[in-house]
Amino acid sequence: SCVSEYSIFELTDEVKSLLKVESTAHKGIRGRATIIAGGHAKMGASIIAAKGALHSGIGLLSVQSCPHCINIIQIQIPEALILEDENEYVLGSFLNYANQDVIVFGPAVGFANKTVKLLEELLKNYKGQLILDADAISILSEYRELLQLLPKGAILTPHHGEFKRLVGNYSNNFEALVQLKSFCKHHKVVVVLKGKHTAVCNEKGEVSFNTTGNSGMAKGGSGDLLCGIMAGIAPRVKNTFITAKLAVYLHGISGDKSLKYYGENFMTPTTMISNLKEAFIEIE
Ligand code: AMP
Ligand code: MG
Repeated sequence: SCVSEYSIFELTDEVKSLLKVESTAHKGIRGRATIIAGGHAKMGASIIAAKGALHSGIGLLSVQSCPHCINIIQIQIPEALILEDENEYVLGSFLNYANQDVIVFGPAVGFANKTVKLLEELLKNYKGQLILDADAISILSEYRELLQLLPKGAILTPHHGEFKRLVGNYSNNFEALVQLKSFCKHHKVVVVLKGKHTAVCNEKGEVSFNTTGNSGMAKGGSGDLLCGIMAGIAPRVKNTFITAKLAVYLHGISGDKSLKYYGENFMTPTTMISNLKEAFIEIE
């Protein structure tokens, strides 16, 4: 084939059209997302991811939460429905996700046995689009038998530290790309290897580089926002590879707009959420 293994993501009219809905749309058309993130004293990860999904056009947003954190979520995100976990301090209940188009699992969920078990249940039983980030990836690195359960078409969003835990150490970007392609082909998943010029790789080993974004985004919560945005667009885009590439692109634009308005130091993932509006205006 003459198709290159490597490309640079460019926003085309075709990609833009994927997010459009009919004028008669109801909320089901935009899809349903569940965020499973955060936990005791780490609710920020859940809130940032949830806001990412909410401001990326999701139709119905659910957030799984421990009982003592429900009020925090409801006050921060009145649009969200709460799925109540039976555990007080860790997320561990496998609930009814049957009508959910997409689930984000991982940011700041921790490593409790019940949480590991919940990930295993999701890998075995959930049939929709799964997005695994952060602690979910570290759990897979630790409990390696779970890797065999990865459903085809799942999206994983590690930064380099998390990806090295998964595939072993590497010392340069070339070696990282070799590992990236081999992991995606072997497990039939899409991996978003985050950093400057984030690389998104599909099941066939095709790699797309992103050119938006800046170092002001290198702050806690930035990755949580990315997986939220991904969940927000996934039900409309449908194609897993395009979902991942487009979310990374939009996340980078929101960072570039935040840099312009607020500067490298003042900007945070929260200012990026407000600048997402300009990222979407660019593609509407
Ligand atoms: P995380 O480490 O999970 O919070 O994710 C960090 C996010 O910020 C990812 O989306 C990275 O691509 C992005 N990011 C971090 N550092 C940079 C950088 N120097 N240039 C562009 N994007 C960055
Ligand atoms: Mg992260």
